[in-house]
Order: sequence, then structure tokens, then C-alpha cells
Amino acid sequence: MTPGTLHIVATPIGNLEDITLRALRILKEVDLIAAEDTRHSRKLLNYFGIETPLTSCHEHNEEGKAQQIIEIIRRGQSVALISDAGTPAISDPGFRLVRRCRELGISVTAAPGVSALVTALSIVGLPCENFIFSGFLPSKKMARQAVIETLRHRQELSVFYESPHRLLATLEEIVQTLGVDREVAVARELTKLHEEIMRGAASEVLEHFRQKGVRGEIVLLVSPGQEALPAMSLEEALLSYEQGGELAPKEAVKQVAAQFGIPAAEVYQERLRLKKEGRL
Ligand code: SAM
Repeated sequence: MTPGTLHIVATPIGNLEDITLRALRILKEVDLIAAEDTRHSRKLLNYFGIETPLTSCHEHNEEGKAQQIIEIIRRGQSVALISDAGTPAISDPGFRLVRRCRELGISVTAAPGVSALVTALSIVGLPCENFIFSGFLPSKKMARQAVIETLRHRQELSVFYESPHRLLATLEEIVQTLGVDREVAVARELTKLHEEIMRGAASEVLEHFRQKGVRGEIVLLVSPGQEALPAMSLEEALLSYEQGGELAPKEAVKQVAAQFGIPAAEVYQERLRLKKEGRL
């Protein structure tokens, strides 16, 4: 064990056998484990007979806690950072502490392991040479719809973490915005007893979960769009709607946003610019 090191240690996302031998050794040997939720992690550590002291390091105290952890490491001790499940810093706290340590020349090393993102990609059966991972979809409807709109012409597989309470609403929005046939996959309860992969047309997957109900932890994957990007530029599209004169400006902005798969606010800004330049 190298003294004065921060270890980023992955823990299981369901099945406790997924912890690595190296993770177990490090968690036993470090002086302190910084955990997102100490009560949750204590159960994991008890299971493996690990008695290392624990401290909390979560989203709301990461800034302040980072300083304390850094001081401990600078005194020559070693600290492991773990999150509730999977790999720290992946939709979990961690990056601020890692960045600060790196800025200060403190050694940071990983005991890699499972992450729901990679686990889902490896078993859903979708081509994943190129993918974009965007973490959690926004919980607010408007913001979520704006993200879904950007998938219309996206040429890469899109991967999101999603709450079970919002999955049906999100799938409905996907059907409405991207069409009934857009291929999606839901990877649910990975590595656990009720693991389920449901892949198919958005409307089928929606119907499946409408019938069955949604429980557990979820990774949502959306296949690339088939449609190519519109041949015209954003500016040309706005001008052509304006010249057509059939749509109110607000409606034209909405249509262009949908056509380009970008947020309406972005199109609105472009419209303002054209107006300022006297071209609209
Ligand atoms: N750091 C974790 C990782 O490396 O995957 C992710 C933490 S994030 C706060 C938790 C989200 O990850 C869940 O809401 C769910 O979307 C996804 N997730 C975690 N465990 C999962 C599992 N067993 N099956 C499916 N999704 C899971």
C-alpha cells in the first residue's frame, strides 16, 4: 500500500460477488474510507469483514470534505473513496476530490470495477462502438423534452440513467418526439435477481412497462436516428419559414428546433440574431 494515496474504488451495483479482490484488499488496508452514505456502505463492509473507519463524502459536503481528506493524505495516510454503488465519479460524487488531489500532486489511483453504464452496454445487444453517456435525464418535463429532441438526428447510441418513477413519461416523450419505431432498450436491475433487458421499438417497450409497471434501477438506451441532418443551415431554415409566411414565429421556431433536433431556445437566439441584423 503506497502511503499518501487516494484510491477510487468501485463497489458492486447489485451482486456482492462483483467486488474485485483488489478492491477488498485496498478497503482493508487504507486508513480511512470516504463513503457517499456511511450507513449503506457499512453493510457492504460488514459483509466482507472490513473494519476500516468510515467518513461521509457526498454531493453536499464534497467541497469541504475534500479539504479534510487531502490533509489526511498529506500526513501520509491513504484514503479510499467509494460511492453507494458502482464507480465513484460516474453520476456520483468524486470528481471534485480527484481534481483537487491532482492539482496538488497527490497520487490518485483506481481499483476499477463495475459500472451500470458499461454493464448495460455489454448486454443489451446494441452496437456500441460510439455512444454518448449523459447521466441522469433531467427530472423536469421541459428540460427532459429538450434533451430528447436533441436525439432526433444523433448518430451515436445514447445512454442515460433514469428513475423508475419517470420511465413511462420518458418513453412516452420518446415515442412522441422520435417516433414509435425508434429502437430503445431498458436495462433494469442489472446483476440482481430480477435483472431484465427489454429492447425493441419505443412503442413496444412503453407498452411492456405500462402493463408490467416499473420498479428497480434503470439504464435507458436510445439507438441512433435514421434520418440524416437537414441539408439546409439553421439560418436558411428560419428564413425559409419566414418567407413562407404560413407559421407564427413561435411555431416556426418550434418546427425548426424539431427538424434540427436542438433546443428551441437555441433556435430562438438565432432568430433574434437574424432580426438584429435586419434579415428577418
Ligand atoms: N456510479 C454508479 C455507476 O458507476 O454506475 C451510478 C450511480 S447513479 C447515482 C445510480 C443510477 O445508476 C441508478 O439510478 C440507475 O440509473 C443506475 N444503476 C445503478 N445500479 C443499477 C443496476 N443494478 N441496474 C440498472 N441501473 C443501475
